[in-house]
Amino acid sequence: MRGKSCENGAVAVVGKEVVAVGDFNKIKRDLSINNFDIVDLGDGIIVPGWVNAHTHLEFSDIDKPLGFRGIKFTDWIRRIVKQRLESNRLASDANSVSNKSLAIKRGLLESRQSGTQAIGEIATAPLISNDYTQADCPIITRCFFEQLGREPLNYPNQASELTSFLTQNQSNLPAFYPGASPHAPYSVSELLLNQIQTISLSAATPVAMHIAETLEERELLEQGSGDFADLLKEFGIWNPCDFNGGLSIAGILKQLSKAVHALIVHGNYLNDLELDFIAAHPQNMSLAFCPRTHRYFEHSPYPLQKILNRKINLCLGTDSRASNPDLNIYKEAQEVASSFPELSPIEILKMATVNGCRALGLPSSIGTISENQRASLNFLKPSASPYAFHDNDWIFDQTSQCIPLL
Ligand SMILES: [Zn+2]
Repeated sequence: MRGKSCENGAVAVVGKEVVAVGDFNKIKRDLSINNFDIVDLGDGIIVPGWVNAHTHLEFSDIDKPLGFRGIKFTDWIRRIVKQRLESNRLASDANSVSNKSLAIKRGLLESRQSGTQAIGEIATAPLISNDYTQADCPIITRCFFEQLGREPLNYPNQASELTSFLTQNQSNLPAFYPGASPHAPYSVSELLLNQIQTISLSAATPVAMHIAETLEERELLEQGSGDFADLLKEFGIWNPCDFNGGLSIAGILKQLSKAVHALIVHGNYLNDLELDFIAAHPQNMSLAFCPRTHRYFEHSPYPLQKILNRKINLCLGTDSRASNPDLNIYKEAQEVASSFPELSPIEILKMATVNGCRALGLPSSIGTISENQRASLNFLKPSASPYAFHDNDWIFDQTSQCIPLL
């Protein structure tokens, strides 16, 4: 591959740390390699563990996406709200380890087994940090505490919950980093958004928010009508004043641009001016694309080329099992490769590794294979044809495989 790759390459690992990376013969000369166990992986490429920049592990016990392909987004929300209520009811009946904790554990395990080393997780209250720091399943987690609502009476309580989460959670092994997430423009009032933003700014923590996921969201913000207006009325939280020229997508982006890191999730229907605004904040604004979730809802084609032309930091996420069959980032990368054949594999590889680190405010070394860093390695194996191996295009081909190593 182009870039910092090498043929006949090797990675030397001691314990859980990379001690050397480069040409096999050089490493053999430089280190007393006789004491090493040598594993010849054959033809293929060793790449860093994946970074899944957007997921909701609490839904990892869902066997298949809710609804059906092409389902209207607001109908899908109706199903997920029902699913969450049911899960909460079962948890209170069982009076034992909550279903949510078990689902998170299952999601961490599934992520690790498919080669993911770091996640951008959206977590809801009650949020138990220990759910994410499983010694037997080490995953680096940027945990965005999600908040939503339109009831001012709840705001003081929400403020103290978020403040305590952001200030009490120091990084611990394998690594747990806090963040905040105002859910989405249709579910968060302007007042609550301001509150979350103020708290995140004072704690200097990143934020993530679903924005411009559907055209109906824009209709709600700009005209106060449409599917989302119907949904909010149905849920008994409709207040026409909420959508009377207050929140706008441009206004929300401006607000989030003050954060240390702002991850815009989806952005499927951002217009050119909004993309220009994100591009004007390269240090702290990023976009997360969830390719198979995008396909599940049959959205309009993702504006990927416009995003890359503007050099916006674009990373990949799986979203949750409520809209995706699994949590496998390699499959997301394969989906990108098949939908956008003009993209170079190295570009896609960055989306699945270093770009995710940058978006989540994690050290960039996590998305690379670097000496003196924790070892997290995947092996990409081409299909049998030797012809395919000499052409980089194979690495995210549907016939290739990702084998997690460490
Ligand atoms: Zn999401």
